[in-house]
Amino acid sequence: MNVYDGQRLAALLEKRGMAPATDVADADVILLNTCAVRAKATDKVYSALGRIRRVKKPDALMGIVGCVARESGGDAFRRVPDLNFVLGPQSYHKIIDILDNPDTKLLNIDMGGLEKFDALPPMTKSPLVAYIPVQEGCNHCCTYCIVPYTRGREISRAPIDVMRDVKTAVDGGAIEICFLGQNVNGYNYIDENGVTHRLSELIRETAKIDAVKRIRFTSSYPTEMTDDLIDMFRLEPKLLPFLNMPIQSGSPDVLTRMNRPSDANQYIDIVTRLRAARPDIQISSDFIVGFPGETDTDFDQTMAIAKHIGYINSYCFKYSPRPHTAAATMPNQIPDQIKAVRLAKLDGLLNEIQRTFNESCRDKIFDCLFEGPDKTGRHLVYRTPFMQQTIVVREQNGHTPPMARIRITDANKASLRGEFVD
Ligand code: SAH
Repeated sequence: MNVYDGQRLAALLEKRGMAPATDVADADVILLNTCAVRAKATDKVYSALGRIRRVKKPDALMGIVGCVARESGGDAFRRVPDLNFVLGPQSYHKIIDILDNPDTKLLNIDMGGLEKFDALPPMTKSPLVAYIPVQEGCNHCCTYCIVPYTRGREISRAPIDVMRDVKTAVDGGAIEICFLGQNVNGYNYIDENGVTHRLSELIRETAKIDAVKRIRFTSSYPTEMTDDLIDMFRLEPKLLPFLNMPIQSGSPDVLTRMNRPSDANQYIDIVTRLRAARPDIQISSDFIVGFPGETDTDFDQTMAIAKHIGYINSYCFKYSPRPHTAAATMPNQIPDQIKAVRLAKLDGLLNEIQRTFNESCRDKIFDCLFEGPDKTGRHLVYRTPFMQQTIVVREQNGHTPPMARIRITDANKASLRGEFVD
């Protein structure tokens, strides 16, 4: 979502005749597009601002946009007096106001709903992967999560607006569509005739477009994985066989305190139905370790579910208390050393599962999507249908097909190596 917001902000500034600066010291406008999900992300923003203010041009406009702006509000100006603007995730299109009035200070952390989507200029050129938001915000109120506060309550965009964005992206060169939302599979739009539109319908409509080769969506809430959506994995070959569906913990007690669905059998049943619909589907998850009150037994249950499901490519985090959340004031907060031990243990297991899966891909052939050159420029990076990074040696003729059949020749924990088949 932040990548999308960043692209739209860049487009907005480019429309004003601006161009990307190569060095922060040359920039006329400096904005940090921020994430507030863990305290570390917020802290990084303020230390970056400290560094930037020492090197920036004196009259450069500097500000923060996104979730830290919403989290900090006016306090951001007290912490960093030379900030010029603080704009929340639903009001960043107001950046135009500060460009028009550079001598003022601009604070806007309003929850503008869908207003920003109408205010943003259409993207005429698209990367190969187009991020298309279908809903914003979340109604689930997991007790650790600041997102319902920063991004607000769930609001779904009209299908006609979503499909217009899809078509614009495709006309601009996109061949993979990634539908976005904090609770993307909760997408629920009721039109003026009282008809409910779901994510499955957007996937079906998008799959009909010839130029679209791959479709995915993120991130999903387990119990919103309804049958119509599971069926899409059976019916639409363009929908990638890869799904991020966070479980967070394997302990029913911890999940209850997280205000998440606590019945492991229910989660396992959803995975079973997904695998029945699409036998090669792979699942990834997010995990939080050291949630308040988490015992060794709770943690062992997390290790057990991670192994049982066999998640590939998961993320795990130490629990970080956040403002505006219920868990921040719960008793039995876990000391950092224990969190660190559990994180290392779970990470070790997840890495092992990922390595085993990657190694099982050797000698297989996948249709992969071009992502870009690697840092050295000598290799090309592609993504398999399971979103594994695949490194291919750049050919003499400079051939970089947007989609390519690639045979996997080698694998390690983090990535694959491959060669073009044709
Ligand atoms: N569904 C949301 C979640 C984003 S946060 C979305 O797509 O926007 C991504 C992950 O960060 C969560 O799945 C969770 O594992 C982790 N996370 C959220 N709040 C956290 C906290 N307070 N401490 C540690 N990790 C957290």
